[in-house]
Amino acid sequence: MLLQLLKFISVTFIYLCGYFITTLGSNKEERVLKQGQWIYRYFLKMGPVYIKIGQILATRSDLIPQNWVKILRELQDNVPHMNEADTRKVITKDLPQAFEKVFSEFSFQPLATGSIAQVHSATLLTGQKVAVKVVKKNVRHQLKQNLDIIQFFVNILNFLLPSVQELGLPKRLQELRTLLIIQADMKQEAEKQEAVYTNFKNHPYVRVPAVIQDLSTSNLLFMEFVEGIPGKDVHKVELKRNLVAQRFQDTIYTMLYMHGLCHGDPHPGNVFFTKDGSIILLDYGITVQLSEDEKWGLSSFYYACTRKEWEIAVERFTQHFVTDKDYLIQNWSDYAEAIQRVLQYHFDINTTQWSTVSYFQDVSKVLRKYRARYTTNFTKVELVFLSCEGFASQIDPNIDIWENARKFTDRYSPYISPEVRDTFDAYFQKTSPSSLAMRDRANNSIVAPTHIHRYFFPSTYPVFVKKAYNSKVEDFDGNVFVDISCGYGPHLLGYAHPAINQALSECLANGFVNAIGSEAELKLAEMVVEALPGAEKAILSNSGTESILQALRLCRAYKKKDRVAKFEGHYHGFSDQGMVSSWFRFTGEKFDPQPIAGTQGSDSATVKNTLILQYGHTEGLERLRKEASELACVICEPMPSLLANYDIEFLSKLREICTEFDIPLIFDEVVSGFRVAYGGVQNLAGIFPDLTCLGKVIGGGLPCGAVVGKQKIIDIGRSSQDPFSDYEKKAFVGGTMSGNSITCVAGTAALTYLKTHPEIYVQLENNTNWLSQRLVEIGRSHGVPIQVKANRSIFSLTFSHKPAKYFREKQAGSNFKVNLALAYYMRKHGIYMPELHTLMLSAAHTQEDLDLICTAFDLSLQEMIEDRFFTL
Ligand code: PMP
Repeated sequence: MLLQLLKFISVTFIYLCGYFITTLGSNKEERVLKQGQWIYRYFLKMGPVYIKIGQILATRSDLIPQNWVKILRELQDNVPHMNEADTRKVITKDLPQAFEKVFSEFSFQPLATGSIAQVHSATLLTGQKVAVKVVKKNVRHQLKQNLDIIQFFVNILNFLLPSVQELGLPKRLQELRTLLIIQADMKQEAEKQEAVYTNFKNHPYVRVPAVIQDLSTSNLLFMEFVEGIPGKDVHKVELKRNLVAQRFQDTIYTMLYMHGLCHGDPHPGNVFFTKDGSIILLDYGITVQLSEDEKWGLSSFYYACTRKEWEIAVERFTQHFVTDKDYLIQNWSDYAEAIQRVLQYHFDINTTQWSTVSYFQDVSKVLRKYRARYTTNFTKVELVFLSCEGFASQIDPNIDIWENARKFTDRYSPYISPEVRDTFDAYFQKTSPSSLAMRDRANNSIVAPTHIHRYFFPSTYPVFVKKAYNSKVEDFDGNVFVDISCGYGPHLLGYAHPAINQALSECLANGFVNAIGSEAELKLAEMVVEALPGAEKAILSNSGTESILQALRLCRAYKKKDRVAKFEGHYHGFSDQGMVSSWFRFTGEKFDPQPIAGTQGSDSATVKNTLILQYGHTEGLERLRKEASELACVICEPMPSLLANYDIEFLSKLREICTEFDIPLIFDEVVSGFRVAYGGVQNLAGIFPDLTCLGKVIGGGLPCGAVVGKQKIIDIGRSSQDPFSDYEKKAFVGGTMSGNSITCVAGTAALTYLKTHPEIYVQLENNTNWLSQRLVEIGRSHGVPIQVKANRSIFSLTFSHKPAKYFREKQAGSNFKVNLALAYYMRKHGIYMPELHTLMLSAAHTQEDLDLICTAFDLSLQEMIEDRFFTL
């Protein structure tokens, strides 16, 4: 240490002398230039940490003279490299075989050299052209030495000057240490690169070189060689500059807001282009990882800014990005006013010239005044934004960063954007005036629970139906649409099916009853019990939500426990419990998800008392074992509708653990029940729960629900004839309209028809497969990135390049704006589809209907392309 210290002092002294001697020169420009050169040489001499500092300074033309920026930029990609002998030695040490047995060619002149590593082009014996990133000899040792010296001075400063303590330098230094250690470990870099590669796989214009894992080690990173135009030569790209810049900004935003894993250093040295404007991202030494909450915070803050809701923006900003908040909270109103002034100035008043640099400077000034600071992660996000803006405005000096940001947010909002509204207001005014008039009338009398004005996914142009028959709905203006909503699922046989209508007319003629015995009630219960293997009894109710509530209550009473395990993204009706972590708001790690309320007004104890699991992640089921003694039950959609897939291996494991620990397993087959097969997914998968919740189809289009399953649990709802024992051991299940005769008649008619016409399921499966394949082909023919998930009459369209295995992946990156607009374009061509909901086929859909759906989709995409929905 003493030796290092002496070296540090002597070198610093010599270079300081050099620096000051040059200041004696008279020509100012020359003087500044020479000073810059001394600083450059000093950083080079001192080692990797200093080179890094120089690289960062080179991006800060706001802080240092322009001449220095130019000189220090050399540190970004022109640092001395190892000689051939050292390079060969370092590589050979880590190769699984002799050098010549791996490479047929190797260029010892590096393509680029940074502070920590250098990159070479090479060809493997297999013929594959590769890039090899090699950690320089001794670099880890030098890093440690550099950091130790800096640490030494920081400790002294910290000890001597109390004002320095407030800066929290030791913590910052520790963060820097961790960051640099990661940068010098190619294994960690390979992992990050692989993750970003997967995130952008099949993306229309972003490319990440694939990692060659077999050959990569902690000193060597092998990847496919991707030819490109260096960032600084962006003028050679043949796409319009404004589009290239917008693509670049969008790429960065996609990584931050959608993927939650972002390249941490997107300066021109790390970004390449293809001639036609694709973006190639290199170097994953620094990445920024955002949690679901941080992604949410970032989006919600900028969303408030776009809407100019400043008080909300201040709250979100402070909640998500600021730490050390004691003093700030004590002085909240002054602080809030100061931050609000900064936000308003940058986001609203000074609209002509957005500057990330000055925005961050102004924000930091306020934070410092109130003894607070950005969270560590947001400091990194800040650096990414700065690099992004720096390079984007080099690509296109006229770029409107803020307008691009608004466009980006707009694509992922589940609410209609002004552009879509502008396109359709006049159209629907002309073609569907009656529906619009009723929509406006609804303003004064109704909120939800239909899709009008509902919180989340509301319909801007709802259809008011006058008549519904077969696969069609007809509105009050005489427009007829082929419907692919099936009322969110119940109308499996189509509208006004003769079998159901006839049963209903008979029931009407005889008068219908509720809260009193009817044979219809018995019949429906017997049919659902018979359809589900292992089921013994049923309890009828009026909706899927009710059936879930009853199942949960039975299990809680049965196990005498409160805690419920459920899966992320599985919606089990609108109850507090059913909505925990159920749709677009998630928290915790992907494989360690945590509960979060699905809606305001939820009981927080219910939320906390929920164990959240990830469907499809088998290892995650181990958490069930740990918590088994606390659980009342596990509830699961065996085939989540939005993913339209069931994982037999996973479900068997789930079944096995539940059996082993005697945890009741509930399958929510409210959607899938009699839709994907008679008796639901359990019959297809051959895996059977203790209780099944049903709804939708089993009411033949009328409100209905049922819990069906093992007698020992269902009988918790049955009296023991001892009022004292009942109170202690039984659970109440009931409801005025539960099991009412008219619903049960319709349901029994529907199920009887389905049971006697098994060919319907074959037809539905074939139609779904045919349709989904055609939709993919049509999307592809237009070059539109689209994922179609479809299975046995249930399907959904996601406008993203990225296939999703887990629910939260499906939500992130899906272009909702396109989904919303598509619903209205399709309407123009005779199809009714709900905005942002799974789509359904019924047995009434004919080949002609399917052809119409395809034609409408084709025309809609064509028009949407013309209307610039897919411009990038
Ligand atoms: N479970 C699942 C899987 C659902 O999709 C739904 C509603 N779509 C429900 C339960 C709730 O059913 P309901 O809307 O009839 O209450």
